[in-house]
Amino acid sequence: MGEGVSTRQRHCVFCAIVAGRVPASIVYRDRATLAFMDVNPVRPGHVLVIPTAHRAQIWDLAEAESAAVYRPLPGLALALKAAMAADAVTIFSLNGKAAGQTVFHLHVHLVPVHAGDPLLRRRGRRVTFRLVQGRASRARLDALAGRIRACLFQPLTLAAHRDKFASGLRRSRRRGARGA
Ligand code: 5GP
Ligand code: ZN
Repeated sequence: MGEGVSTRQRHCVFCAIVAGRVPASIVYRDRATLAFMDVNPVRPGHVLVIPTAHRAQIWDLAEAESAAVYRPLPGLALALKAAMAADAVTIFSLNGKAAGQTVFHLHVHLVPVHAGDPLLRRRGRRVTFRLVQGRASRARLDALAGRIRACLFQPLTLAAHRDKFASGLRRSRRRGARGA
């Protein structure tokens, strides 16, 4: 690894995935962002999205970097929902040790959720998350990544995504015009 690479970066498993030194089942890649299957998924189809540059936490991102990391999220979430025939997608990011972060290279978790198997349960005012990590073989992760990639590039999925985005935009423009 060349000059200017910090010790943290050298020992970072996600930097090793970006560099191709550690295998991963890749869902999506662009210059600034990488999405791949979580090796210990809390549900089948669990995806991680990371900046390709080593940034420990969300507040370490420059503005342009944060835009680049979050830009693919709507399309990825929709593709994940379609690929896993899920009812919903839970998106979360743990920032800092006290939040439970274990890999100190920023990542956003995308977890497909089925109605009969919720991640989050409410009992009155008690809200609990039930996250139990499983194990998945590389072959299984590769197959899931392929399924999600196929949905990501399906014109229908993209069209649905564009339609939703456009109607949201129209609504917010109307609200803006009304001064709301
Ligand atoms: P955190 O607790 O920091 O929010 O989540 C770290 C996530 O990274 C965990 O869900 C864990 O399963 C995942 N993870 C840790 N090491 C690896 C790895 O080498 N490859 C992949 N694909 N995921 C990893
Ligand atoms: Zn890193």
